[in-house]
Amino acid sequence: MKGLVSVVTAILQDRASRTNLKSLLRLLAVLLGLVVLFSVLFHLLMIREGQEHSWITGVYWTLTVMSTLGFGDITFQSDLGRLFSIVVLVTGVIYLLVLLPFTFIQFFYAPWMRAQAAARAPRELPSSWRQHVILTNYDAVASALIPMLENYGHPYIVLCPTPAEALALDERGVKSAVGDLDDPDTYRKMRIDRAAMLVSTRGDMVNANVTFTARELAPRLPIVASADSDASQDVLELAGATLVLRLEKMMGQALARRISLRDSDAHVIGKLGGLHIAEAAAAGTALVGQTLRHSQIRSKTGVNVIGIWNHGRLEFASPDLAITEHTLFVLAGTKQQLDSFNTTFTTNAETKPRVLVIGGGRVGRATYRALKERDACCISIIERNPERVRGIPEAIVGDATQMDVLKLASAREATSLIITTHDDDTNVALTIFFRRLRSTFHILARSTLDRNVPTLLRAGADLVLSYASMGSNTVLNVLRGSDHLLLAEGVNIFPATIPPSMAGRLLSELDVRAQTGCSIIAVEAGGERVDNPPPDYRLPPAGRIFLIGDIAAEERFLKIFKPDLSPSKRWRSAGRRSQSN
Ligand code: AMP
Repeated sequence: MKGLVSVVTAILQDRASRTNLKSLLRLLAVLLGLVVLFSVLFHLLMIREGQEHSWITGVYWTLTVMSTLGFGDITFQSDLGRLFSIVVLVTGVIYLLVLLPFTFIQFFYAPWMRAQAAARAPRELPSSWRQHVILTNYDAVASALIPMLENYGHPYIVLCPTPAEALALDERGVKSAVGDLDDPDTYRKMRIDRAAMLVSTRGDMVNANVTFTARELAPRLPIVASADSDASQDVLELAGATLVLRLEKMMGQALARRISLRDSDAHVIGKLGGLHIAEAAAAGTALVGQTLRHSQIRSKTGVNVIGIWNHGRLEFASPDLAITEHTLFVLAGTKQQLDSFNTTFTTNAETKPRVLVIGGGRVGRATYRALKERDACCISIIERNPERVRGIPEAIVGDATQMDVLKLASAREATSLIITTHDDDTNVALTIFFRRLRSTFHILARSTLDRNVPTLLRAGADLVLSYASMGSNTVLNVLRGSDHLLLAEGVNIFPATIPPSMAGRLLSELDVRAQTGCSIIAVEAGGERVDNPPPDYRLPPAGRIFLIGDIAAEERFLKIFKPDLSPSKRWRSAGRRSQSN
């Protein structure tokens, strides 16, 4: 009964449903009018034929003819009477067999079913909910984040402003609730006081309102909000956001850092406190032709070779790895160790390489600016929309899928390409095209959805950065209050408390790399940190280790070594911070 009331209320509250209900009532009124009219005419025509019938018989005859039941017990004898019967019959067929059922289903039954389903989406979470994450949008970032949250034991809820949106998500198996995003009561009902985090990735203005509303209710809650511009970032910070996500900027900077500028200088791609993770090309150095064992990189410089990039995948390096012209190392070391690597192994290219950036939107422009800062290459940028590259002298306005535009940009002379359009299909097509054009192009690509990353790699990209992964990893980083760092698509540096199964044991005997695919790059204990611990390092009984590996390797590590994942162990209270990368 309660359900019925809520469904009827939902129908009456919805404006479209109210209009539909009125149409249905109007149709029923016309039908009633027709029945009365036909009954009166029946009466008059029967008197004309000399037959006497009651008014009830008139209604009975009209309904049996209109519904095509036609018992045949009362019939007209004259042509006029039979013509009248045909009119009543045809009107009945149109009204009762076609118009009314259709209208009933369209205007009443379907909205009823929708309202019934919408009534299922909760407007309030049970009081038992805690350490949950409230999301205000189901986008590419949320779809990548949700499985991670489930992995780490955080319940989540996607808050939708309309029942229709919540229903659509519910049908896709996404947990959703309904509530006005600007209403403090909504957040109270979402148990914000016991939530672990709020993530708002709608439009900038909505995010500002959400942040401000939620911040008043939960002064210490980590709130992550996305922004498209510097001005919005300021507003969100003022509204109380813990972290303002500037994904386009982040991605542009990350892509620019990954570009190989044909010198063997190691360039830093991520920092973990004092430990630098860097990439370095072997091309042109004395390292080419040697095996890793003979290169003595570690003994000469202290730098740890974590692995090599192989088409966007981090492959852990064995001592027998043969170093070739194409080897791109992933290194870990302190600044001094990397400086030592640079002085020991560096050769510099004589000519500046040419980099072609495709797409001059937010990502493309951020890439351009970051490359300009490095001042080590010649840059061209192709963009369809002239407004977006106004003031960039190297910009070529046109569609990058057109041959004449590519010629104008001297695409053939480029050594590296960074494909940054927002459309994954275009990015795949451009990657295939350029890879066919030349096998030596260094191609970096952006992908919006995680599922297109393997496609882009198969198409020939050397490295793909996914918008969804970057966003979800950054959000997870805030939630875990840790230095969780995304290096490339799917490769993370992540912390874990030293589990009892590892405490007091030598790294060499634990053989974490062989068992899980992760590599330990730092150990933190008693307020001190050991970067790049050697194989004969004995783990302390308590503290944290930092590992590097892809998501699957991280999951294997969690499963095999079972570090403590309780929130108190991995969640430091997050103060306000601005995004760094
Ligand atoms: P954003 O998502 O802000 O980085 O914007 C992506 C940019 O890529 C937009 O400015 C688009 O105009 C641009 N873009 C998309 N497709 C093409 C194309 N085929 N050629 C050139 N630019 C493109």
